[in-house]
Amino acid sequence: MNARAATAATRVLVLNSGSSSLKYQLLDMREGARNSPRLAVGLVERIGEETSRLVHTPLTGDGSEVKRERTGPIADHASALKAVAEELAQDGLGLDSPELAAIGHRVVHGGLRFTAPTVITDEVLAEVERLVPVAPLHNPANITGIRTAQALRPDLPQVAVFDTAFHTTMPESAARYAIDVETADAHRIRRYGFHGTSHAYVSRKTAALLGKAPSEVNVIVLHLGNGASASAVAGGRCVDTSMGLTPLEGLVMGTRSGDIDPAVTFHLKRVAGMSVDDIDELLNKKSGLVGLCGDNDMREIARRIGEGDERARLAFDIYVHRLKKYIGAYYAVLGRVDAVAFTAGVGENSAPVRAAAVAGLEELGLTLDPELNTVRSDEARLVSAAHARVAVAVVPTDEEWEIAQQAFALVTPTTPPGPAF
Ligand code: AMP
Repeated sequence: MNARAATAATRVLVLNSGSSSLKYQLLDMREGARNSPRLAVGLVERIGEETSRLVHTPLTGDGSEVKRERTGPIADHASALKAVAEELAQDGLGLDSPELAAIGHRVVHGGLRFTAPTVITDEVLAEVERLVPVAPLHNPANITGIRTAQALRPDLPQVAVFDTAFHTTMPESAARYAIDVETADAHRIRRYGFHGTSHAYVSRKTAALLGKAPSEVNVIVLHLGNGASASAVAGGRCVDTSMGLTPLEGLVMGTRSGDIDPAVTFHLKRVAGMSVDDIDELLNKKSGLVGLCGDNDMREIARRIGEGDERARLAFDIYVHRLKKYIGAYYAVLGRVDAVAFTAGVGENSAPVRAAAVAGLEELGLTLDPELNTVRSDEARLVSAAHARVAVAVVPTDEEWEIAQQAFALVTPTTPPGPAF
């Protein structure tokens, strides 16, 4: 019997490849490993610069983790992955191990074609490439990550898990913009939505928190990180989400404006003489919280509000006003809501944002327990009052676990389902 047959392949390497960065996690998807499925985590940043940095942390599970750091030039993604492989090998977790079942890749845009995790073939990669015009910042970096990993382990299944996939169940009424249909179709202009892996994970985890199956509950998920998006999930299927053709639409974000009258862009071009690239940069990088008050970190904004800073207060109020509008809109879209779930950096950590977002919505069945809301925890939990008709949940998102789980399920279909919640 060869080594591969003798050893169960239960590990998944998850790669999230950016234009100059490579984030990774190695997880063990064996049943029962859910309490500590992570074997190692790390990040390579500033790839292609003189000052590249690799930070690698092997996770022993007993809290005795020691972070290792390398600095110095890492020329490209191939060198970055090679360096990661060396670090993992040092921990006895080499990527040549027969225990590695698959490499799971976060791919931002899967268009309409990819509705589920997909084993990457040349044809799949060509389609991801065809989607570059609708995801010019993200898909090229994801493709580089995939090619690099393929070169390292050509024998291993590489699985793409798409940020857009969870939202492909949106009905046309939610997904289409009200513009000329021929123009829209010719250029693939429609609402795709993003953060889908997080919305999928958090909506299912919220159902589990309520002791129900995903098919039994309707959930509004608020993913509030530096990028932010809301989704309406009916019985486990996404029926609406706030991001659109690109991640610019929807909520007020750290540096993005979210919803805006499209005529603002014509105005900026015609009246302010700005170029399309200038406007792109303004709306994506210099707007949102940072544009409103100079800070995009909610901790800093809260601190400034405490000192009586008016601009920080206004930024917070605009952020919350938009959030509340989406809660109301998705309540109407769903008809019945069982839970509102907060996730990501702001959603998981900012009690003031959660309190302000649901304040005044008691008539909709939303009431927080002020004490539960301020308790800090890494666990998924309910923070609503005992009598509230609609649960309010705080659910730490775990996109890497979700990617690993989806990739593992795809490549080992006969294996019993991986670690449960
Ligand atoms: P993410 O994109 O999910 O990593 O979220 C990043 C954002 O989360 C930061 O820009 C902060 O605004 C926010 N954040 C992180 N920790 C806290 C905290 N303890 N309180 C409030 N906001 C936080």
